Amino acid sequence: MNQTAVQTVDPPAARTWALPSMSTVVTGKALDVRFYRRDLVGRSCRSVERGDEIETLIEEMTHLCREMDAGGISAPQLGIDLRLAVALTAAGMPEVLVNPEIVNLAGRDLLEPEGCLSLPPHRQATARVWRSEIVQVRTGTADDPGARLPRIYRGQAARLVQHEIDHLEGIYFIDRCGPIARSIVLERFERYLKHRRREFEDQIHPSRASAAAKPRAYVAASSATKGGATIWHTSRPPATPS
Ligand SMILES: [Zn+2]
Repeated sequence: MNQTAVQTVDPPAARTWALPSMSTVVTGKALDVRFYRRDLVGRSCRSVERGDEIETLIEEMTHLCREMDAGGISAPQLGIDLRLAVALTAAGMPEVLVNPEIVNLAGRDLLEPEGCLSLPPHRQATARVWRSEIVQVRTGTADDPGARLPRIYRGQAARLVQHEIDHLEGIYFIDRCGPIARSIVLERFERYLKHRRREFEDQIHPSRASAAAKPRAYVAASSATKGGATIWHTSRPPATPS
């Protein structure tokens, strides 16, 4: 298991939205999934342009999705300010979304559950979201008109693509939920963060490690992270979202 893992954020006051450079990413530095933070909601990303080195990044994002048992991931979830996302097909193949634009929504509106790597545990902290059954998306850079031909996604793929494109506009799935569903997801997320913080504190202060058994719900949450991902890279525990 490499160090590609869930990464928490520092307390908002101690850390700004500092974006790593593309060179940092393509030299193989571990990617960190940024957790949900309310102050980042609504931030849209810049378009991918000719010359942006995204091939390695796409490979790493694809690897991360598979490692974390996720359906997709977007660049801003890794702290990268680019309109870029990867969605895995049912066969596990990457569908790369470069500068995706929704050009048409069709079919029925479907209410189905979603989760998000930025709101772990992503298999438990879920809520139902309305999405169109069919979506037509144009992708590619402006200087590559051939790549701008629209693609059509249906069903679960359409849901996934809409979820990832939302990320490029700074929208999380909970922003499309009602207040009760939203608060349930945030409560589970916060509980998860508290658990991880306690684990972290136990690591740096083993003599003070609590001998108390961890609540069953936390154990379930931990094991949901595929591969037993290393959680902490930072020197401080995370702030709870607020
Ligand atoms: Zn997401």
